[in-house]
Amino acid sequence: MHDIVIIGAGPAGLTAATYFGRFLRPTLLIDSGVSRARWIPESHNIPGFPQGIVGQQLLVSLREQAVKYGTTIQNGEVHDIKSQDGHFELNLGTEQVSSRYVMLATGVKDHLPNLRGADEALMRSLLRVCPICDGYESRGKRIAVIGNSDRAEGEAQFLKTYSDRVALIDISKFPDPARRRRLDAHAIEYLEAKLEDLLIEENDLRLLQANGESRTFDYFYTALGCSPRNKLAAALGTQFDKNQALIVDAHQQTSVERLYAAGDMVRGLNQVVVAAAEAAIAATAIHNRLRNAS
Ligand SMILES: Cc1cc2nc3c(=O)[nH]c(=O)nc-3n(C[C@H](O)[C@H](O)[C@H](O)COP(=O)(O)OP(=O)(O)OC[C@H]3O[C@@H](n4cnc5c(N)ncnc54)[C@H](O)[C@@H]3O)c2cc1C
Repeated sequence: MHDIVIIGAGPAGLTAATYFGRFLRPTLLIDSGVSRARWIPESHNIPGFPQGIVGQQLLVSLREQAVKYGTTIQNGEVHDIKSQDGHFELNLGTEQVSSRYVMLATGVKDHLPNLRGADEALMRSLLRVCPICDGYESRGKRIAVIGNSDRAEGEAQFLKTYSDRVALIDISKFPDPARRRRLDAHAIEYLEAKLEDLLIEENDLRLLQANGESRTFDYFYTALGCSPRNKLAAALGTQFDKNQALIVDAHQQTSVERLYAAGDMVRGLNQVVVAAAEAAIAATAIHNRLRNAS
């Protein structure tokens, strides 16, 4: 029986593991290896890295720190979780793990546009998902936001801080005249297109237009959203908000007793520093509860 098991080795889970290790409670951390942070081409908004840091390097450093303080990182996926007799039973397929406390740090899955070369374009910064992360690096560039939602409209407006050349490419079947008017008022172009008209090229991005002409852009921002990886939490009956993000209390406990959560899967800003901060809060709260119980 473990005191704590962490599920997910992104910035949230790995930060929590370091905290637990330094509280002299080395933990088991189970991870399926698809952290969003592995896509970060180079981040410039993570404190302490004025020259920027590549996402995969950040993950290596976070892992090294967690392991230094005794964390055991096990590759694998938790398929199911049950609450019974005051503890949790985790099903990893080939084995079961029992723990008094569980910390979920399973992140979200991005909805990327179904474009040839999209994954690779993310790593090259041509395709982007997060204006808060890298809007600064888009200063003065030709930017197109892909989407047809209020979220896409909001992102296009946000990016106007950085460039006068922002367009929204609406790939829906039913373009919205009201949205066009609102964007016009902000001097944001509104373009209608089919997904297959968007091309990822060597150094830029191309939109093939109905009139046979084409336009090029420096960056596409996809505003198609993401889904929290919340299957395990849902199996335990936790509360979610309308976007299916987990609702937690001030100490990161979910609506299920002894089940904590941190990072992108929790309601709030999807950022590395937020994930790390939530993990620190959760780890400290769990440690104090275990300390007071012993
Ligand atoms: C292209 C891109 C650029 C970005 N740039 C920045 C930036 O510049 N600055 C910034 O602050 N943020 C940036 N972000 C966001 C940042 O990557 C996330 O906020 C951060 O990774 C969230 O950390 P997390 O630990 O919550 O989740 P993740 O990093 O996604 O980690 C979740 C982990 O849980 C594991 N997992 C999921 N389900 C299971 C399961 N059932 N069993 C076992 N393991 C499981 C996954 O394999 C994964 O390793 C960027 C994101 C992208 C995609």
